[in-house]
Amino acid sequence: MTTTQGAGSYRIVAMETHDVRFPTSRELDGSDAMNPDPDYSAAYVVLRTDDGYAGHGFAFTIGRGNDVQTGAISALEPYVIGRDAEDLGALYKEMVYDSQLRWLGPEKGVMHMAISAVVNALWDLKAKRAGKPLWLLLAEMTPEEIVELVDFRYLSDALTPDEALQILKNAESGKRERIEHLKSAGYPAYTTSPGWLGYDDDKLRRLCQEALDQGFGQIKLKVGADLADDVRRFTVAREVCGPDYPIAVDANQRWDVASAIEWVTALKPFGPHWVEEPTSPDDVLGHAAIAEGIKPVPVATGEHVQNRVVFKQLLQAGAISYLQIDSARVGGVNENIAILLLAARFGVPVCPHAGGVGLCELVQHLSMFDYVSVTGTMENRVIEYVDHLHEHFTDPVVIENGRYRAPSAPGFSSEMHAESIAAHTYPGGEVWRNT
Ligand SMILES: [Mg+2]
Repeated sequence: MTTTQGAGSYRIVAMETHDVRFPTSRELDGSDAMNPDPDYSAAYVVLRTDDGYAGHGFAFTIGRGNDVQTGAISALEPYVIGRDAEDLGALYKEMVYDSQLRWLGPEKGVMHMAISAVVNALWDLKAKRAGKPLWLLLAEMTPEEIVELVDFRYLSDALTPDEALQILKNAESGKRERIEHLKSAGYPAYTTSPGWLGYDDDKLRRLCQEALDQGFGQIKLKVGADLADDVRRFTVAREVCGPDYPIAVDANQRWDVASAIEWVTALKPFGPHWVEEPTSPDDVLGHAAIAEGIKPVPVATGEHVQNRVVFKQLLQAGAISYLQIDSARVGGVNENIAILLLAARFGVPVCPHAGGVGLCELVQHLSMFDYVSVTGTMENRVIEYVDHLHEHFTDPVVIENGRYRAPSAPGFSSEMHAESIAAHTYPGGEVWRNT
């Protein structure tokens, strides 16, 4: 390991949680076929050390889920008080293996998302102490150190530690050049901003044109509420973007298997770049049947996939052509590294889910690590971008000509401004007080 700025003995001495909610449902931002009125929210955690550092993390919810999610994060306090953030492979596994808490999942749902929030806060702390953005901290770790972070339990029929090590070793050559390339060129993004279901056609048309003007190489439309509406909206988007421009569609789990095949078949003439979340995220065989039934339209999923085991099955079943990690649902950075390695093993490109509040800030680091240390390529890969709520973060994402600029500030880009936390705290913050 390289010498770190924050090296030396220290301990985490405090954990704070904050229930932070943004009233996004008032503008229909984020509206889709299954989530008509989301209030983008963060069950937010801060870990403070005895030498003045703080690590920030959060679980993303869409409102009332925060009531439960903040309590789940608090249940992890005994694991971090008195500890440091040096051996995050071991600490992550300790939390996941707490049998009394594990009973609530296992490794899924509210408790697993709470672990994600805390693990990500620990990584923010570690990267801040090292004086590096998280993607670079990870990129500079050795293949052996990366393998130590991963829990291979339930994976060995698809990926062994030796195979993971080999993937990482294969990517060692050219790493330095890729780091420099990322710093100068960034990472490709696509935008979902034009496509929310609650927007009218004029707004859709205007936002499609803006996406082109801003240099994005792909957009995405929400679909699945009404087929005639979807055909009309896809027609508008094609008129603005042209026949060959990549336009993905996202059904947010709306369909059963047969209706997914029927609906997507009707949209086939518009050439969807992928169909995202066609059905339940737990239905591996359903995804495989849909993929077969809508060929050659590719299937994408992942933002609601609970853990690495379900991702393993989706890959083994040949059910997905694009894998969409989420930075704050599975067990944080550690489990996402396992999923990046699985995707590499199966040769499936990772195109992360982002948006919400803070998800773009986090997940960019993971794609950049994937490029530098795992797959060595950005080809056929894009990170989702949505232009909401970035102003609340101390190190917000920067998009230039349709690409994420590589973060340079130390940490995981996960820290919100203290004033934003105070104003949006539910129910006492000023944003909520008079509603
Ligand atoms: Mg989606």
